[in-house]
Amino acid sequence: MAKASETNNQSQPLVGEPYFCKECKRNHTKGKIYKEHLNFAKIESKNDDVIDDDVIDDDIIDDDIEISDLESKDDNTSEEEVALDDELNEIIEVDEKVDEDDFDEGLKNYSDDAIACVDAVKKLPGVGEATLKKLIKAGFGSLESIAYTPPSIIQKESGLGDKTIAKLIKSSMDKLDIGFKSAEDVWEHRKNIARITTSSQELDNLFHGGIETGCVIEFFGEFRTGKTQLAHQLCVNVQLPKEDGGLSGNALYIDTEGTFRPERIIQMAEGHDLDHKKVLKNIVFGRAYNSDHQIMLIKEAGNLIKEKNIKLIIVDSLIGHFRSEYVGRGTLANRQQTINTHLHDLLRLTDIFPDLCVVVTNQVQSKPDVFYGNPTVAAGGNIVAHGSTIRVYLRKGKGEQRVAKMIDAPHLPEGEAVFSITENGITD
Ligand code: ADP
Ligand code: MG
Repeated sequence: MAKASETNNQSQPLVGEPYFCKECKRNHTKGKIYKEHLNFAKIESKNDDVIDDDVIDDDIIDDDIEISDLESKDDNTSEEEVALDDELNEIIEVDEKVDEDDFDEGLKNYSDDAIACVDAVKKLPGVGEATLKKLIKAGFGSLESIAYTPPSIIQKESGLGDKTIAKLIKSSMDKLDIGFKSAEDVWEHRKNIARITTSSQELDNLFHGGIETGCVIEFFGEFRTGKTQLAHQLCVNVQLPKEDGGLSGNALYIDTEGTFRPERIIQMAEGHDLDHKKVLKNIVFGRAYNSDHQIMLIKEAGNLIKEKNIKLIIVDSLIGHFRSEYVGRGTLANRQQTINTHLHDLLRLTDIFPDLCVVVTNQVQSKPDVFYGNPTVAAGGNIVAHGSTIRVYLRKGKGEQRVAKMIDAPHLPEGEAVFSITENGITD
């Protein structure tokens, strides 16, 4: 790092360069505002009459400072402070300009749809470039994502203040007209709900016409029962046009076990006469190396969904990492709480993006106290059972055959379907 230079007898440092601040006798970085100098921000806001949330929320302020902290500072401003006001204005301008450029550069990769979403957030009262940047960085790039997320989570992820967040949520909800609606409206929505084919007529029938969007679907079963194969197949099928049982969308695959195999995707794409290069390109792949990483990938997914036209998210498997990382009775409560939050992150995505389908796979664990009937249960206990909307149990049949059993769904009867795993993927 370069040595801090004295400002008075040398030319002005450039933004990002270290320099020695005469006022507070510390080394500073040009372009940053330090807490000691915050009263200058106060001068600025006085001129503007309104306190812009951005001035307070911006990254350039070293510590989190609430509006109330600023307001409580007394109004006496020394001459020195006024003298430095101009310099500060200049710093803020430069800083914001740099940020905006970066920001526009970042937005270039977004689809028109995503930009329209971001635009809506930008129009919320009190949102300036810096707040917008923070929201997007934290995965809140749409009105829906702000409206459906608990304030405490938005705060943790974005670092914005309580008051700002409360205002943002209120105005997003108003804009989206969230409130009660008639059951008829709900039916209107459900009637036209989009579905993805599994490539097996029988299995599709079990779901009354394919895997539906807007919910979390869990496939659980022992190893080799076809969970990963189904996950691969759905990544191919989601790309099919509507008339062929797809959603003309892309897939996001979170692999926690290292079992994603592009060669299987190629075989399955060929089974549908699809160009496998295109099919591979349309699958966004994330390898989760531990549970924290897995949680983080899902948090980041919020921004990818619009940008990459994601219509299917796979998490294969949901709780493998949690089981191996949280060992022993003492960690159980903590583990369940973390899984619960993670599942809710996934569920929330389906609230925010109603035409998104989330599929998770789950392992089974043996139940030593069961002597009759099935001695295995899905891992994760009640937390996972209540978190997923539709649960299907898979077991091995003869040879390549597998049996899927509908265990729990809000609107589907219990039932079974037999399907096969072949070289070209899932079939009847
Ligand atoms: P899990 O439920 O543990 O995720 P998988 O979905 O990986 O299990 O299923 C593995 C099974 O899929 C294998 O045991 C095999 O029966 C079948 N399978 C995998 N690859 C092929 C292939 N190329 N051709 C036919 N069957 C395959
Ligand atoms: Mg697997």
